[in-house]
Amino acid sequence: MEVLHAVNPVTGEVIEELRRNNPEEVSTAVINSRRSFENWSTLSVEIRVKYLKAIRSNIMSNLDEYALIISKDTGKVLTESLMSDILPTLDFIRYYEKNTEKFLKSKKRNTPLSFQGGKSFITYQPLGVIGIIAPWNFPFQLSMIPVITALAAGNTVVIKPSNETPTIGALIERIIIESGLPEGVVQVVQGGREVVSALIDAKPNKIFFTGSVATGRKIMEQASKHLIPVELELGGKDPMIVLEDANIDRAVEGALYGAFANSGQVCVSVERLYLQENIAEEFIRKLTERVKQLNIGSGKNNDIGAMTTSDQIEHVKNQINAAVKMGAKLITPLKIENNFIHPVVLSNVNHQMEIMTEETFGPVLPIMTFDRIEEALRLANDSDYGLNASIWTKDTARGEKIATKLVTGNVMLNDVLRNVGNPDLPYGGYKDSGVGKYHGPEGLYSFSRETSVMVNKGKSNREANWFPYSTKKYEGLTELLKTLNEDKSLLRKGGALLKIAKKLKEID
Ligand code: NAD
Repeated sequence: MEVLHAVNPVTGEVIEELRRNNPEEVSTAVINSRRSFENWSTLSVEIRVKYLKAIRSNIMSNLDEYALIISKDTGKVLTESLMSDILPTLDFIRYYEKNTEKFLKSKKRNTPLSFQGGKSFITYQPLGVIGIIAPWNFPFQLSMIPVITALAAGNTVVIKPSNETPTIGALIERIIIESGLPEGVVQVVQGGREVVSALIDAKPNKIFFTGSVATGRKIMEQASKHLIPVELELGGKDPMIVLEDANIDRAVEGALYGAFANSGQVCVSVERLYLQENIAEEFIRKLTERVKQLNIGSGKNNDIGAMTTSDQIEHVKNQINAAVKMGAKLITPLKIENNFIHPVVLSNVNHQMEIMTEETFGPVLPIMTFDRIEEALRLANDSDYGLNASIWTKDTARGEKIATKLVTGNVMLNDVLRNVGNPDLPYGGYKDSGVGKYHGPEGLYSFSRETSVMVNKGKSNREANWFPYSTKKYEGLTELLKTLNEDKSLLRKGGALLKIAKKLKEID
């Protein structure tokens, strides 16, 4: 039997061995999923929502146990398993319990005058089988939220969790069984790239991927061969811009949390800090003091946990060393103990360094200064990524205007990371940060087949523009076109339109 080893990054111990699925099992899972879809997709929203509620209640009954499972496999501190993995999952389940019925109701659209008496609307139906591929950094919420959304919309799911955190796959399987979901509605397949490849080749109706840009490209390429739609939630290099009128103490705390929470292994971590010159000295002094107070470890009283993978430690180390070689200054030293990296703050950096252009995904905060806001915006937008950003100012009206100039999928004023947890806000990136949006109503629609319907009561035998054509009909239709395009209110041209309609009827 081929196995996956789940390793606790804090102790280095193998905590569990889990079975790796082979490609045949993956395609069988998709076939079973399609079979389960036949029944699941016919259930009313009310019944589907009851299952979501059962999942929520299962999580609520096992909070401490589940938080511990997540912490053991990722190395993150318990508070973060609870607040960043479990809490958002519960929030999103409650949100879709409350809103799915409303969001999936048909939506009326306007029907132009030239389609006399018709009505138009959009209907939402499930897509079918959704293949979900998840990363290791928030392995629970980044699996569960897309699963929940896909189920709420009436789809069935085959999910492949990260091979770095396979106990989360087993946990999801357990929750689904204990919550009493019908067989085959959610299936977990475990393994690495060969499992992903088999999943795509089994032709699910959509692939929802969260992970790195490099893997995202490969997935899109393979999916394109079958024309399977993909949604990609990828990496980031998020800028934080602090203006001179900001609440400096709050901005310091925000930078600390934004850059170092989950050891910086957050897609929306603050990865670049731009300070207005005249506040830089005070800001860096206060930040350095606070960095020294952060507690490294794995207990409830620790702030910064372990890095999840050794590859990631190497990547962070290499990026810092390369920046230092090019002239960057370490404000706090690079210190690595076992799998823990102490938070690193750097100055003297520039956009020629990878540390300012490529995702770091570690507890590292490089700082640059700027004189005018235009310069800060140019630097913030000088990136291949466009995921999240933050602007810090007491003048929120000005901040809102500045926000529109950032090429990004998401932005916050005077806050960090937390916007991703607002269930009603669509979330997703631009440029290399991804394709598509989920969360909010958009999340349900992204897992739905939207069909645009136009209804004609069908009373007349034919429409004015149908056959037969004639010179007279051509002239009548030209008159109609001209009248429709006159810059007059409908009230003023209504009489003329009625006359033309009558004329066209007579021609017919
Ligand atoms: P990853 O791309 O290495 O892995 C993601 C998933 O793809 C895993 O399930 C993995 O097993 C699979 N995979 C890895 N290599 C593959 C390959 N060659 N072919 C097919 N499948 C493959 O990403 P990761 O290291 O697990 O996660 C970290 C990355 O995810 C970071 O770049 C981070 O920014 C990004 N991320 C993005 C978001 C978002 O919402 N935008 C959220 C979390 C993480």
